[in-house]
Amino acid sequence: MQTRLRDNLERVRQTVAEAAQASGRTADAVRLIGVTKYVDIETTQALLELGCLDLGESRPQQLWNKAEALARFSPRWHMIGHLQRNKTKRTIPLLSVLHSGDSLRLLQAAHDDWTGEQPLATLLEVNISGDSAKHGFAPDEIEPALRQIAALKRLQIVGLMGMASLEGGRTQAQKDFASLRKLRDQLRNNSPDEISLDELSMGMSHDFDLAIAEGATMVRVGSSLFEGVR
Ligand SMILES: *Cc1c(COP(=O)(O)O)cnc(C)c1O
Repeated sequence: MQTRLRDNLERVRQTVAEAAQASGRTADAVRLIGVTKYVDIETTQALLELGCLDLGESRPQQLWNKAEALARFSPRWHMIGHLQRNKTKRTIPLLSVLHSGDSLRLLQAAHDDWTGEQPLATLLEVNISGDSAKHGFAPDEIEPALRQIAALKRLQIVGLMGMASLEGGRTQAQKDFASLRKLRDQLRNNSPDEISLDELSMGMSHDFDLAIAEGATMVRVGSSLFEGVR
């Protein structure tokens, strides 16, 4: 298992580095987040042992279990899925980055439940594809909410997160990433000083190279890492 996982990780890191260089950046300008939602604690541990310390989970319960079992590796946990407000109390204190800041009410709850000394790094999730089944702010909802969001002092808003449309393949994904970047550039000119929007969390296994070309600073990769690993 370890060999296959090591090869996969190596290949993904290589693609990240090449895509970063092609966009005029260095590999360390893009953070690889290993999404472990498909795998058990043992496989997650193997990934940590290979040096992938940024881990993403989309279900709170799984994050709790893994955070407890793997605490000795000090992973940086990234919450990437929708968080119900009744789960924030237990989840928020475990996090390094909250990617799925998808509503004002959730941000308020996250703010209230954060216990760290420094503010929690938080991204605003944008529903770029407009798919009604997806969570996130509509693109035009963010600017009017920025003052209220900036008042949540225990959160440090660092950027935007988004997912490409399910349909339309890589052509559509490229357009979606470009529009998230454009939205970020527009908002950056009009945001309060407390809010910086330097980070763009976008790109998954099938499209992270495209996301990096459009300026992603964090990519969330799951299935590519675990191909053939059982
Ligand atoms: C599952 C998931 C990923 C990883 O997807 P892969 O296609 O397996 O790389 C990334 N982001 C979010 C929000 C996810 O839920």
